[in-house]
Amino acid sequence: MAALGHDPADEEFRQEVRAFLRDRLPADMARRNGQGFHASRADTRAWTRILHEKGWSAPNWPVEHGGTGWTLTQQAIFDEECTAAGTPLLDIFGLSMVGPLIFTFGPGELKDRILPAFLRGEISWAQGFSEPNSGSDLGSLQTRAVIDGADYIINGRKIWTSGAHEADMIFCLVRTGEGSRNGLTMLLVDARASGIAIRPIEDIRKEHSLNEVILDNVRTPVANRIGEEGKGWGYAKALLERERAFAAEIPRNRHHLATLKCIARETMRGGKPLIEDNLFAARIAEAEVEFMALEYMTLRAMADNERGGPSFGSFLKIRGSELVQRITQLQVEAMGDHGAYLYSEHAHRAGEPQPAPGPDFAPGIWSEAMYRRASSIYGGANEVQRTLIAKQYLEL
Ligand SMILES: Cc1cc2nc3c(=O)[nH]c(=O)nc-3n(C[C@H](O)[C@H](O)[C@H](O)COP(=O)(O)OP(=O)(O)OC[C@H]3O[C@@H](n4cnc5c(N)ncnc54)[C@H](O)[C@@H]3O)c2cc1C
Repeated sequence: MAALGHDPADEEFRQEVRAFLRDRLPADMARRNGQGFHASRADTRAWTRILHEKGWSAPNWPVEHGGTGWTLTQQAIFDEECTAAGTPLLDIFGLSMVGPLIFTFGPGELKDRILPAFLRGEISWAQGFSEPNSGSDLGSLQTRAVIDGADYIINGRKIWTSGAHEADMIFCLVRTGEGSRNGLTMLLVDARASGIAIRPIEDIRKEHSLNEVILDNVRTPVANRIGEEGKGWGYAKALLERERAFAAEIPRNRHHLATLKCIARETMRGGKPLIEDNLFAARIAEAEVEFMALEYMTLRAMADNERGGPSFGSFLKIRGSELVQRITQLQVEAMGDHGAYLYSEHAHRAGEPQPAPGPDFAPGIWSEAMYRRASSIYGGANEVQRTLIAKQYLEL
């Protein structure tokens, strides 16, 4: 499927990545992550440490900040090979969102203190933006921070905070002044600070991935502020653009497409493999063509953005989130009866046996398809993205 890396230097790079994955990716980690469940924080951390030893834990960062300095093609090749090998996905909250904000807007002291530990896999992040009455209308958020000596004191409530229960730090958008957007500031908060209560929210699968975070007189040092006070909206916008570009879900869509083909090859329907059913094969082909178009659109948008052009985050977010929903639905359909049983992610992570019989690829399929129903909501609801496109590009 991949058309990337026809250049001999790229092909050499691909062989280097393959050899590294063969030598260093633990087989049990690859097996766990090949089954469609979310990677555990423990696996993500362990894999980040392994990558860090090779200098590869930040594939999309510039060299001067501890990244690889790879070209976009090299990043895409690395991503393809990692997907094929079954590595856990890296911490996107740190790698693609808050990390670049820290090294871009500083201050330098914060960069030196936080980023090396993150690159070693020692800090995992959660995103504290949404509040009970401020999701799409983020600028109306009410969590307030006031300066007291060398600290900010924070009071308020965040909601839908993915992974906060397993995170070390939360990057929070808080109100430090009036005005819907001018009065916002971005602070990094220790997830275990005194005054923080993290309450679980069960997701559609009855799993614990989401949280409500209550901040009651929580202190964080002024030194943990990204950039300037009151400029948080600008930083959040830069971050959300990155989040939406990431929401094209290229690694995840690639992985799910490969799994879909594997299921269709191994599942018999009407006496022959499902992949030989012309109608089903056409649906897979359609999804694959859309994936390839999305991948190239993403690479082009990233290249344009590096040259100072627009990032097209809203377009990528809509297409990527719709595609991940379609491919995971096709997986469930392809599994027939086995698609009907919801395997438990927490039992899987705990290594507990699951009662239902089924092929090796069955466990995470339905769970993932259910979870991704939310992909058109998280990262900014698709309806809102369509309005942004209408305003920004169509001048409506
Ligand atoms: C699985 C999941 C994980 C999440 N993880 C995080 C996280 O880690 N950190 C974090 O900060 N947040 C997270 N979120 C929150 C997410 O960003 C918000 O749910 C999202 O921005 C929508 O906000 P809301 O839920 O308040 O819905 P609302 O803003 O109340 O919207 C409700 C509905 O109204 C529609 N709507 C609202 N305004 C408009 C408009 N102007 N035009 C047209 N339609 C509109 C929306 O499309 C939506 O369908 C997560 C959400 C989910 C579901």
